[in-house]
Amino acid sequence: MALDVVIRGGTVVDGTGTPPVKADIGITSDRITTVGYIPASASESSKVIDATGLHISPGFIDVHSHADAALLNDGQHASGIMQGVTTEIISPDGLSLAPLSSKNYEMYRWYLSGILGWAPEGLDMSSIEASRKNYHGKTSCNVATFAGHGPIRLEAAGMNDVPLSGSKLDTARGLLRESLEQGAVGFSTGLSYYPNSWSDTEELCALMEVVRDFDRPMSIHLRDREGDRAFEGGGVPEAIEVARRTGTKLHFEHYRTSIDSAGQIDKIMEPIDKAKAEGVDITLETYPYPVGSSFPQAFFPGYFQEAGPEAMLATLNDEDKRAELISRMSEISYTAPKGCVWTHIGEGGNSKFEGWLFEDVAKEWGVSIEEMMTRMMAETSLACGMRVAPPGNVRQWRQVEEDIMQLMARPDYMVGSDSIPVGGMPHPRAYGCFVRLVGRLRRRYNYPVEQVVQRMTQNPAERFGLTDRGVITNGKFADLVIFDEQKINDRSSFEDPAVHPEGVPYVLVNGKLAVENEAVTGVLSGYAIP
Ligand SMILES: [Zn+2]
Repeated sequence: MALDVVIRGGTVVDGTGTPPVKADIGITSDRITTVGYIPASASESSKVIDATGLHISPGFIDVHSHADAALLNDGQHASGIMQGVTTEIISPDGLSLAPLSSKNYEMYRWYLSGILGWAPEGLDMSSIEASRKNYHGKTSCNVATFAGHGPIRLEAAGMNDVPLSGSKLDTARGLLRESLEQGAVGFSTGLSYYPNSWSDTEELCALMEVVRDFDRPMSIHLRDREGDRAFEGGGVPEAIEVARRTGTKLHFEHYRTSIDSAGQIDKIMEPIDKAKAEGVDITLETYPYPVGSSFPQAFFPGYFQEAGPEAMLATLNDEDKRAELISRMSEISYTAPKGCVWTHIGEGGNSKFEGWLFEDVAKEWGVSIEEMMTRMMAETSLACGMRVAPPGNVRQWRQVEEDIMQLMARPDYMVGSDSIPVGGMPHPRAYGCFVRLVGRLRRRYNYPVEQVVQRMTQNPAERFGLTDRGVITNGKFADLVIFDEQKINDRSSFEDPAVHPEGVPYVLVNGKLAVENEAVTGVLSGYAIP
């Protein structure tokens, strides 16, 4: 068989967790067709990559990416592909741009502009099938998508605090079934985001009964809103209850210790290991940083978000309503968001405040932090996002990193970057999540490369049903990362976040070079999968 690409002399980490071995790899079209010794005569007409001294692994799979809009605006997506991420699973947290009618698409892309950035106007996102066409062959990486709770609830009940029952529930279940039939890799929800948080535990069960027929997981960002509607107040107990009651698979998003729980892995894993011992099928994911990222409306109560962005803007621009809104922030488990940093400030706002702490902007403007937040949202028409500042106590920060590497040693873990590649001062995970784990942290805590790679490749491919990906063997798709095991590292940091990594000279997606000599090639060979 003619080989289009031959990778010669490298050390293969095949994704299964077995120790690396020296082997050549041959690629024909978009598949791996040889793993082993390839004689020079067989590669005379091939593109040959010299991988002497380098490791070759399956392309990394990001199970939690908020690049839904970023990929539509710039299919090159250098922040991900240069780390070796060859597949992004988009639409976690229930935050998805499909399936949506054209009217709801325009409304929801506006509502989510603080997290996703602005998705293009006027796209057909009426179904998962329509959505897939907007990505297939137009991005450097493969794209898989969740069926998000948000759009399904919007199509059934609008941006309203109403229960899904009767015909509304039928509509939601029908849309979910159709989305899974069209290739969604699971159901995602985020119960600190609206309209998702207006659901109760019964609704989640009614939806997961549909998902059970497809044997797909629920990917969940745990509830911290409207807890009175949830089994045992939400959080971990609610997630486990849904999986237990419906007999479905459960996947915990961004589950790790924080500064408050640093060093207490046993404590955070106790309810999960108990449920697993009782037969609940659970996997988890994390990113290797001590703090997260979101949008400012996450700090505001549900009533403010009803009827969508136009109504929200009207509230923000009315002095009395704004005062009432601020006074009602205490209704949710709320602490004044000190220590948050603006990551992006959209049109209408002053982008010089990207990278500023909330309290510093408030001081500059001579107003309270809450007042500053409402003004920033009004100025930018909601297109602004934030992250939490990392802890000043670097020793505690290190402890969280050590915890994360211990969690990653568990066979039920994988990696979700939670990346939001938008704005001038994004969370550094958008540019560094995967390479930080394989590089800096793996070396610091001395974990085997094959173990860390398995969590980023075979594990997610199996969990989310990504056919013929995640391992290096004959017949699989040629999604490959070639890296220097000693040099691979993140260079993005909280103070300089948008910097590409080092030590990743080549990345192939479906047999085509997406990165060559540590630079993007411009080739967009990604597929809509699975
Ligand atoms: Zn997320």
